[in-house]
Amino acid sequence: MKQEPIAGLEGMRGRVNTIRGKISAAAEKAGRLPGGVFLCAACKTQSSEVVRMSAELDIDIFGENRMQEMRAHQEDKAYLGKPCHYIGQLQSNKVRQIVGSADIIQSVDSVRLLELIHQEAEKKSLVQDVLLEVNLGREASKGGFMEEELVPAFEKALTLDRVRLRGLMAIPPFDANEDETRRYFEDLRILQEKLRERYHPAMPLDHLSMGMSDSFEAAIAEGATIVRIGRAIFGERRK
Ligand SMILES: *Cc1c(COP(=O)(O)O)cnc(C)c1O
Repeated sequence: MKQEPIAGLEGMRGRVNTIRGKISAAAEKAGRLPGGVFLCAACKTQSSEVVRMSAELDIDIFGENRMQEMRAHQEDKAYLGKPCHYIGQLQSNKVRQIVGSADIIQSVDSVRLLELIHQEAEKKSLVQDVLLEVNLGREASKGGFMEEELVPAFEKALTLDRVRLRGLMAIPPFDANEDETRRYFEDLRILQEKLRERYHPAMPLDHLSMGMSDSFEAAIAEGATIVRIGRAIFGERRK
């Protein structure tokens, strides 16, 4: 029983190696460099001990959904110096705590949040990197910008010198099949390309965050630079 953390580590090491192999293969098949895809471990519900163990492995970034968990992992120094991105739904009353704590806030879904992040970043004398979350399936139950809201959001962001738009993020509808999911990823890539034409280099737009445990290879084929993987690294979540 005492050996469980070690067994846990070995299991996780094997799973991360398998994922890395699949990332490299998918990148190669798409004519891309494996180094152009960052592995973001979606560590919601995981303890600091498990996160610290996983940080020893070939993971590039930790992705957090809940402010409290992020703070606990940071206080426990569980990332071992690796970057942390906020990927969860963002409430305006959490902006103060999150600006400057997350290397990139991936889940910005309103102009109001962009403004609040700008204000907070100004107070802290920093520039906050963000991605805009896109509601690809136009789902009422989900946050994110609708496609047609992106240009107005970018225009606004150009006036906010404390936020830097690094790209787009999306979570396709859960009930989409494999082909549909791939098409959503393609839609996001095309959106990113159009926005790049218009706003690069004023905004770096160097990231496309898409693809999860069941879909990261399709996402890489469509140009993902960050894949966010939870279950395939940590196992099924209990809550
Ligand atoms: C949990 C989560 C993931 C990872 O999902 P898995 O199916 O566990 O790989 C990716 N993105 C976001 C925003 C998440 O909340």
